[in-house]
Amino acid sequence: MKHYIVIGAGISGLATAWFLKQRFGATVKITILEKEERSGGWIKTVQREGFLFDTGPRSCRTRGSGQATLQLLEALGLQDEIIPCSPEARHRYLFTQGHLKRLPSSLLGACLSPLTRRFLPLLWKERNIPPANLADETIASFMTRRFSKAFAEELFDPLTLGIYAGNSHALSFPSCFPEFANHEKHYGSLVRALWQQKREKNQKMNQFPIITLKGGMEILTRSLGHALKEHLVLNTPVLSISPSESGIVVKTSQKQLAADHVYVCTPAHAIPHFIPPLAEPLKQFSTATVAAVHLGWNKSVLTKRGFGYLVPTKENEPILGVIFDSSVFPQQNQHEKQTRLTVMLGGTVGVPVVEMSDDALIALSKKSLYKHLGLQQPPHVAFVSRAINAIPQYTLGHQSRVTALNEEIDSLFHSKVTLMGSSWNGVSVNDCIQESYERGRF
Ligand SMILES: Cc1cc2nc3c(=O)[nH]c(=O)nc-3n(C[C@H](O)[C@H](O)[C@H](O)COP(=O)(O)OP(=O)(O)OC[C@H]3O[C@@H](n4cnc5c(N)ncnc54)[C@H](O)[C@@H]3O)c2cc1C
Repeated sequence: MKHYIVIGAGISGLATAWFLKQRFGATVKITILEKEERSGGWIKTVQREGFLFDTGPRSCRTRGSGQATLQLLEALGLQDEIIPCSPEARHRYLFTQGHLKRLPSSLLGACLSPLTRRFLPLLWKERNIPPANLADETIASFMTRRFSKAFAEELFDPLTLGIYAGNSHALSFPSCFPEFANHEKHYGSLVRALWQQKREKNQKMNQFPIITLKGGMEILTRSLGHALKEHLVLNTPVLSISPSESGIVVKTSQKQLAADHVYVCTPAHAIPHFIPPLAEPLKQFSTATVAAVHLGWNKSVLTKRGFGYLVPTKENEPILGVIFDSSVFPQQNQHEKQTRLTVMLGGTVGVPVVEMSDDALIALSKKSLYKHLGLQQPPHVAFVSRAINAIPQYTLGHQSRVTALNEEIDSLFHSKVTLMGSSWNGVSVNDCIQESYERGRF
């Protein structure tokens, strides 16, 4: 019987094992090796004094690669756990020039909003700017080329902070926003492509663009862990993998296992610990560390409703942005008046969150909330979660480095080792599940 080993039980590893099991059933042996005492990786839900917080991912989009996530949730019997974001979550804000300003959510809104109306002529012009056909370029360069420097700094820089906690002058546009990069290639213009898509958009998906699980995102990885319990081996770091005559030998501190194929579902920086020859090429794959300050009130303290706000780098503020958790998913509030907020700090451009104490991070967050929202009531709950080396940074040249690394892996292990997970082809939970589906299921 063939033996497939999955290294790492974050969402990528669990989903890979799940799809392998769906495909092969009991005809193959599947083992998942996880170094920690729990599965789930960055997906973690915490309950503090009646306040629910996801310390890692808190939501998924339903469009694009979100379809694989929806199908997985259904296959796990979690349909009743799925909750859509509230309609007010479509309101998003930017903190700019000393004020919180609402981003428009419609074309008419864009014409009226002081944040965007001056960019409208640029959208018109963009339709006729020919594609540059560059192999790679930064997010800032792409947006400046097709729109303007101000457009890049005021709209795409904060979006980059919100997703990657990274620097738009360092990150690769085709690697971070592949869909948009393809729009330029195939439609010749982003605006034309988005306009076309808007006309074809599925109404149902549009109605609920963002979802989570009622009990928090960890329900997903706990359910997967439960469904795969006979395959899951916790507290077992992989120490080395090496090619053998018939396949791959995987060593842990307890034993040596023979595998026909190994799926490496750990972050890039974990790989040199068990494949030392890759230490050098993997040095070029960097990450960002972020801290989240979770704050809860047993009363309604927010004057603004919506998804939250981001802060462009040029504002020189100490925080990256704030998510209005209780407004996005009110179904997770313990009572109607509860307020839950998460302040994000750090990243590659922000304050040094590893060196700062929890108290300092909480104090800085409160100060920012006072300045940005006028919020000064003391929270009932305040705690910090740090995600160290958690967000992969797809910097310029990322895609060609991934290709070279895969070639090296194929040659070292005779195509019997596959690299998966958020370090390579997409950082979202959806991307991880979609990749696991593609590689594991078919
Ligand atoms: C703070 C934060 C907020 C986020 N928000 C969102 C969001 O709202 N929406 C969204 O879609 N995405 C979000 N993301 C991104 C998303 O959570 C991650 O990309 C995804 O969870 C990565 O999953 P993974 O399985 O690839 O990696 P991981 O979760 O890192 O799992 C890898 C696993 O490998 C294990 N491992 C490492 N080394 C070894 C070894 N030697 N042997 C055995 N096991 C090993 C680790 O212990 C870990 O369990 C967020 C991420 C963070 C950090």
